[in-house]
Amino acid sequence: MDALTAYKKHLAETAKLSSAQALLNWDQQTHMPRKALAFRSQVSGALSKMIFERSVSDELGRYLEELEKRENLTDEERGSVHRVGKNYRRRKAVPPEFVEEVAIARSSAQAAWAEAKEASDYSLFEPHLEKMVGYARRLADYIGYEDHPYDTLLEDYEPGMTCAELRGIIEPLRQELLPFLERLLRDGAKPESSPFVGSFDIDVQRRLAHRALEVIGYDFAAGGLDDVVHPFTITIGTGDVRVTNRYVENHLGPGLFAALHEGGHALYNQGMRESLLPLGLSRGASNGIHESQSRLIENQIGRSRPFWTFFQPVLAEYFPQFSSVAPDALHAAANIVSPSLIRVEADEVTYNFHIMLRFEIEMGLLDGSIAVTDLPSLWNETIERYLGVVPPDDAQGCLQDVHWSMGAFGYFPSYMLGNLYAAQLLTAIRKEIPTLDDQVASGDFGTLLAWLRREVHDVGAIYEPKELIERITGETLDPSHFIAYVSEKYSEIYKL
Ligand code: ZN
Repeated sequence: MDALTAYKKHLAETAKLSSAQALLNWDQQTHMPRKALAFRSQVSGALSKMIFERSVSDELGRYLEELEKRENLTDEERGSVHRVGKNYRRRKAVPPEFVEEVAIARSSAQAAWAEAKEASDYSLFEPHLEKMVGYARRLADYIGYEDHPYDTLLEDYEPGMTCAELRGIIEPLRQELLPFLERLLRDGAKPESSPFVGSFDIDVQRRLAHRALEVIGYDFAAGGLDDVVHPFTITIGTGDVRVTNRYVENHLGPGLFAALHEGGHALYNQGMRESLLPLGLSRGASNGIHESQSRLIENQIGRSRPFWTFFQPVLAEYFPQFSSVAPDALHAAANIVSPSLIRVEADEVTYNFHIMLRFEIEMGLLDGSIAVTDLPSLWNETIERYLGVVPPDDAQGCLQDVHWSMGAFGYFPSYMLGNLYAAQLLTAIRKEIPTLDDQVASGDFGTLLAWLRREVHDVGAIYEPKELIERITGETLDPSHFIAYVSEKYSEIYKL
């Protein structure tokens, strides 16, 4: 068999195993009975092992070696060989004993983190974090890097991005947004109360989330909506991209905006061309690009004035008390800027500061310029400097995220990059669809979706983020689009 045919066959088989794995994972977080956990973990573990072994097999190595020499590959095939090959070499560089050692340490680090967060006692987590940082450094050493150990960790989430580039992106963002935030909080007209706060039947909220997903173009014949504790979107396979959500009785915001957010992720996955699945490319170009799709739908569309012009009467169908609330009041309530201690609750203006804080700390931990023991005080000082808030305890400070206990260093910047990519994409969208606002205001999301399908969704992970964003917008990632978006939008809402 020709190497290319054999390579595709190999990846197609792996994709089937991954599909089974994803279905088990989805089930575990939605419907699985509690007592099934022990055996389910064994089944998932067995599948993970099979998938991992296929990703580092000698067979795959031989195909890659031959295909990397070929010049007549299509864009899809070249993208696949590039990504799969990179992944193959990164995994091969790490000794299996190390992987096992980290997996064991990760389990106890996660347990210790949960306990430390519960008791708000950093000392319970500190020795585990010390270990996880050590592992992250060793991982970087095994795989290798040119400039900073953090670069190689970033690669898992944002291929091609480096520490130095991130610094160059963050600096102007900080310099522009910090004084803007200060001015907004000092001189801005803050909405007095939010119509989203009250008492809202969960079942009706669920139906509203369903409607919101339909509105943006999510295909329920190729997915579904289920309840969970932490919302996520998961691709089970071709024609099966599922959304999960959660609802809060006394606030309409979390359930509605999470549905739009996850809906944005889901549109991306539903829009990828079918031929990408057996090439290992049926996923986002990067975590940051994936996040751009969710932020674009949730924030730049879902929190825009035209959206609320359209959505106010829709909302009133579900909760009649909104029939007398002006769209403008809903728009303002959807955009309340309020510096908070917790990243996941942050608004568009303050969100990126939460990421800057984590990025600085992660870099420092990795290169040794920050000691694990200094983390709580450093965290508190930095968040006060950025947002003027001081955590009353470490549970609301440096213990709030699960990521570090999992050894996931390098993940956080994706959240910020998602905002920046989304703003840059929106600039491009507005150029090509000058009537976007009118369309959204009349509930027509078809042209927008068609654009996203064509430019972003269809090509999945064929191109790395840098190449993708340049192909679409004609320029490299530039934070000025986000700065302009935020300043214009919030100057208007806050009457600055
Ligand atoms: Zn997301």
